[in-house]
Amino acid sequence: MKSKRIPGSSSRRKTPWDAKPGLTPVELFIKSNYLTHYDEKHPHLDQTNEAELINSYPVTECPYCASHKLIRSGFDSNGIQMYRCKDCGRRFTRITGTIFQDHKISVTEWIEYCLDLMGYNSLNATAKVNKNSYTTSKYWMEKIFLLLQSIADEMELSGTVYIDEKMYRAASRDLIEVNGSKLRGISRNQYCIAIGYDGHDTYCYVEGTGKTSIPKTWKAFGAHITPGSKLIHDKEKAHVTLVKRLDLKSTAYDSKGLHGLRDKENPLDPINRQCFLLERFLDAHQGFNRNNLQDYCNLFMFLVNPPLNKLEKIKKLLDSAMTSAVTLKFRECFKVHSDD
Ligand SMILES: [Zn+2]
Repeated sequence: MKSKRIPGSSSRRKTPWDAKPGLTPVELFIKSNYLTHYDEKHPHLDQTNEAELINSYPVTECPYCASHKLIRSGFDSNGIQMYRCKDCGRRFTRITGTIFQDHKISVTEWIEYCLDLMGYNSLNATAKVNKNSYTTSKYWMEKIFLLLQSIADEMELSGTVYIDEKMYRAASRDLIEVNGSKLRGISRNQYCIAIGYDGHDTYCYVEGTGKTSIPKTWKAFGAHITPGSKLIHDKEKAHVTLVKRLDLKSTAYDSKGLHGLRDKENPLDPINRQCFLLERFLDAHQGFNRNNLQDYCNLFMFLVNPPLNKLEKIKKLLDSAMTSAVTLKFRECFKVHSDD
């Protein structure tokens, strides 16, 4: 099966000699080496056991009308089990409405892509390694961002929880100018990222530009800290309502009083360390659109949080991609893309 190309993407499978008859030995050699590598990176669905993998995920709901009245209805050309909905009459497979619909990328390629991504590669480098066009890579990135968001939405910190706010600068092209000079100091040029850590997981939430506030802190952490947990933080006034409403056992330190302490002696060191790692990660992806700041924070969380083994991370992401909870979001995203 030949995979469809996304409009606007230029195929990296092309060589200068595709239409030329009678290639010279050197042209033939380069072309065949290049295509061998390309095909290794883009295996056809029937060369892998993907149908088996896809069929192993249960199907309980029609992706079009959410009905549970389904019957098995043969297999598609790739060996993927098809179903028919007894209510709306439409046919579909386990991957209809998921990121793997239409096989724009195979699961095998996707795993490669995720491994590259976890190696902190930039999008462009990842696209080159896999010989995908940059557009395809970006399109995939957006799909992964949706998955990461659904993982982040379900996170909850518990036990001893450290929280803080990390300010992160706007992209230089977006800095607001006053009298012709770009002022990095003014609050609208700084994003506030709420960050929490319980010794196990890190949670980040982009509050917006400017300083934190009581409602912003509540929105960031209200649903992501288990009530009754122990809270270790600085004396930020905006945390007051969070402590009260979640009945947290609060220990607050005056951060000014901690200046000059060695890391080991600083009671806020665990959260300071997370802030440092987040900043380093964001700096490594310099120049990204700040509209995606939460997405990049979600990617950071995914990389630093357990499971730490890369292959286990991919399993988690793949399971998430296959759950029906996110399929609807993918279809919405898909609609937006087909109108482009
Ligand atoms: Zn249906």
